[in-house]
Amino acid sequence: MSDVLVLGDEALALGAVDAGLSVAYGYPGTPSTEIIEYLQKYSSENDPDLIARWCSNEKTSYEGAVGVSYAGKRALVTMKHVGLNVAADAFINSALLDINGGLVVAVCDDPGMHSSQNEQDSRFYADFAGIMCFEPRNHQEVYDMTRDAFEISERFKIPVMLKLVTRLSHSRSSITRRNTNQKPDKGKAEDRLRWMALPSLSRKNWSDLLDQQQYFKEYSEGSVYNKLSINNDFTEYGVITTGLGGNYYLENAGDLELKPSHLHIGVYPVPVDLIKKLTDRVRQVIVIEEGYPFVERMMKGILSTSIPVHGKLDRSVPPAGELNPENVRSAIGLEPKAVKGDVPDLPARPPQLCKGCPHTDTFTALNHAVADFTESIVTSDIGCYALGALPPLSAIETLLCMGASVGMARGASEAGRKNVVATIGDSTFLHSGITALVDAASTNTDMTLIIMDNSTTAMTGMQDTIVSSPRIRDIVLACGVEPEHLVEIKALHKHDAENTAIIKKEIEYHGLSVIIALRECIHIVGKK
Ligand code: SF4
Repeated sequence: MSDVLVLGDEALALGAVDAGLSVAYGYPGTPSTEIIEYLQKYSSENDPDLIARWCSNEKTSYEGAVGVSYAGKRALVTMKHVGLNVAADAFINSALLDINGGLVVAVCDDPGMHSSQNEQDSRFYADFAGIMCFEPRNHQEVYDMTRDAFEISERFKIPVMLKLVTRLSHSRSSITRRNTNQKPDKGKAEDRLRWMALPSLSRKNWSDLLDQQQYFKEYSEGSVYNKLSINNDFTEYGVITTGLGGNYYLENAGDLELKPSHLHIGVYPVPVDLIKKLTDRVRQVIVIEEGYPFVERMMKGILSTSIPVHGKLDRSVPPAGELNPENVRSAIGLEPKAVKGDVPDLPARPPQLCKGCPHTDTFTALNHAVADFTESIVTSDIGCYALGALPPLSAIETLLCMGASVGMARGASEAGRKNVVATIGDSTFLHSGITALVDAASTNTDMTLIIMDNSTTAMTGMQDTIVSSPRIRDIVLACGVEPEHLVEIKALHKHDAENTAIIKKEIEYHGLSVIIALRECIHIVGKK
């Protein structure tokens, strides 16, 4: 046993290592990135047999992890919450397989959207797939639950989800490590009929998964992470908390005159019997949960008596953004704590592209090029270059999800709009822009794709792009783009007039063209 000071993400990585992890795959995405980064460092310093790799996207990461499980070893796959949308096909279907080596999917949600386009709650995905989900509320629980998740995965033969949130992933605290397991090797899965998602086989596997739900529920009802404390002397209301909502509640509960009965939920499926034990003793209940009103909604179908349920749905708890000690304090009817001194109004500091960023020079040339047309559309994507939306560049018009710039440009062009341009980074192009480019090439759609190749995944901390720049050119050609309309430019201010002319010429071409704007992110110059 040893104590270490770690980020929440690092606690998860260490929990996996100590559980006997063999392979981890992931795609970088804040706030989950540090899990794989820590494992890579751990592997290089302590355990060369441990494999931890970045993949092209979350789906390929997930599929790789399922392959490790089939081969009989323990696998971890990491992503941010919106990444699970990308991996969803493999994720949902994998619940019907006969998981062999333990398979844990670590998903980091981002309530408050610190660096994401939505604040979707991954617990719904776990419920949708019919698997178990652990939701830790502190670093020790992250470590302990990670170890337990591998055990549960192998016991019930299902993938198991670990759901973190930004405040936990990126805060630091000490944890106590326990002994490190040997890496289990169960050998290749024996029953291949449980590993093929053919309809005739899936019908049985789905039926089996439904039958298993009662065992998942039994585990959840008895779990040490689902804690119920009853106060029979106070029946006015009870409190149910999940995730960090439990910490914020306990931080304020000492100021309540009488302590309500309290259930904290850390493992799903929802412990229905524990909820009933609480609600049978109180006249109303307040649900404080980080994320969507997941438990709160389910309670409508759980309660035998119709007691009022307060929470996000009736806005007793803020329905959007993060919970914090102050808004939870207000939800349980306490006056705000007095703040010592005035908090000055600080000027806003909106994010912006770094000084000297190659994207600035590409966007500047693009702005000059489209200025010569009476109409144009510029779609964009997820990455540093999304900041091209802000003044003074104001260069882009849309941003949806990873890879969408290419498909949206194709759609806008086929809808009859002229001078349509898509802008995408190298990493995002490899993540999910390629398939949309194949679509555009198949119809030689009248659009121009600009791949802004800075040779790194900059926004999440300079992870290596999965393939090097020269090979991106090969990939574009292999998608079916005509060689004479694949052009490279150097993203430098001194080349602005030349780059503007090239972009304009390719926009004027009535067919598909691709421009690769090359220059390394300034933060990796000299590091390679
Ligand atoms: S990190 Fe690199 S790519 Fe991102 S804004 Fe800064 S210079 Fe540009």
